[in-house]
Amino acid sequence: MNYDHILIRYGELALKGKNRDAFENTLMRNVRIMLKDFPEIRVSRNYGRMYVQLNGADAQPILEILQRVFGISSISPVVKTKQTEEAIKETALQVISAIQPQPRTFRVETRRADKRYNIPSMEVSRRVGGYILRQLEGIKVDLHQPEAVVNIEIRTEGTFISSQTLPGPGGLPVGASGKVLLLLSGGIDSPVAGWMMLKRGVTLEAIHFHSYPFTSERSLEKVRDLAYKLTRYGGKIRLHVVPFTEIQTAIRDNCPEDYLITIMRRFMMRISERIAAQTNALALASGESLGQVASQTLESMNTINSVINIPILRPLIGMDKVEITEIARKIDTFDLSILPYEDCCTIFTPKSPVTRPKPEIAANFEAVLDIETLVENAVKGTVVEPIIGGKREAAVVDLF
Ligand code: ATP
Ligand code: MG
Repeated sequence: MNYDHILIRYGELALKGKNRDAFENTLMRNVRIMLKDFPEIRVSRNYGRMYVQLNGADAQPILEILQRVFGISSISPVVKTKQTEEAIKETALQVISAIQPQPRTFRVETRRADKRYNIPSMEVSRRVGGYILRQLEGIKVDLHQPEAVVNIEIRTEGTFISSQTLPGPGGLPVGASGKVLLLLSGGIDSPVAGWMMLKRGVTLEAIHFHSYPFTSERSLEKVRDLAYKLTRYGGKIRLHVVPFTEIQTAIRDNCPEDYLITIMRRFMMRISERIAAQTNALALASGESLGQVASQTLESMNTINSVINIPILRPLIGMDKVEITEIARKIDTFDLSILPYEDCCTIFTPKSPVTRPKPEIAANFEAVLDIETLVENAVKGTVVEPIIGGKREAAVVDLF
């Protein structure tokens, strides 16, 4: 079937009243960015619907990309036709005839947004259904559980006919909700946390703490690859790579073993808060989930948080590992995340980290360190790398 357009529906946006125009513009911009490798297409919108005019481009790869664009509730490849009964009948017949193998049962569903077309939608469905029944042998109408549904949308900008509706990812368009700085490790959780933040419409920047030579260049490459995977959902992501060796060494040499992780995380927070301020991010986000490991108890989170004022969002807080892993597989970060790597936490993992650290005790142990200078040096040494979606996939495969 030669589909000439893809019709995009976006449910949640309709609820947003006044902001709707801004949301729609953001979504349209994102659709254009994600489809930048298809120069022949045109994207337009009109009263609650968006269209990709294919101009000869293959619909399949475009449908796959659109299924990752947050804010989209569903998509359909459609054929645009004239607003006449003849044209609608003929096109509907072509659309259903193209389904292989021919369905045994069908139903026609009509939505008439343009009331200038004066046949009521039920009547349109009835007439088109009757026409299909006369033209195709061995097919029957089933209103309840049909094998095929022919959708007709009669609108001012055109009449669109389809037989296929694919779910979109839902959520809000990236860029509609401000900016968040994601603490991105090489693990399973934080990329999933990033994806969940993107789903709520935030723009992401990512920060990663790197302890070269305790951690290898390869482990950093893996974090870049994970950030790259996230760009498939959110466009460009800036990755802030923080040199963390000096701080980790200072902590290891001067602080008691059971508080190493707590103090290390407090430094991560302090540095993240400053980078967030520099980049206008209004919150941090992490992949923590309550009780998952020793550093993720309430006491621990409280002790770690108490050195900063910026909110820290934890989209995975109520999820267990099985649920998180399921999403990691779905968004295609899992295989990367489980590659063996040394992360800056495992290098310094003490035998028995404290599970109920106290802010006053952590502060006492830290007092021997020149906190301000250490933080300042790390912020100064931070390198910003723009991670841009594109043709990196092949490189990822080659690397490992
Ligand atoms: P993940 O799978 O995301 O690494 P985790 O279950 O291994 O999480 P931790 O290692 O305790 O948990 O880390 C908790 C959170 O702290 C991570 O989800 C991430 O947001 C952040 N984090 C940990 N290490 C780093 C790092 N080297 N750079 C940036 N953020 C980090
Ligand atoms: Mg980790």
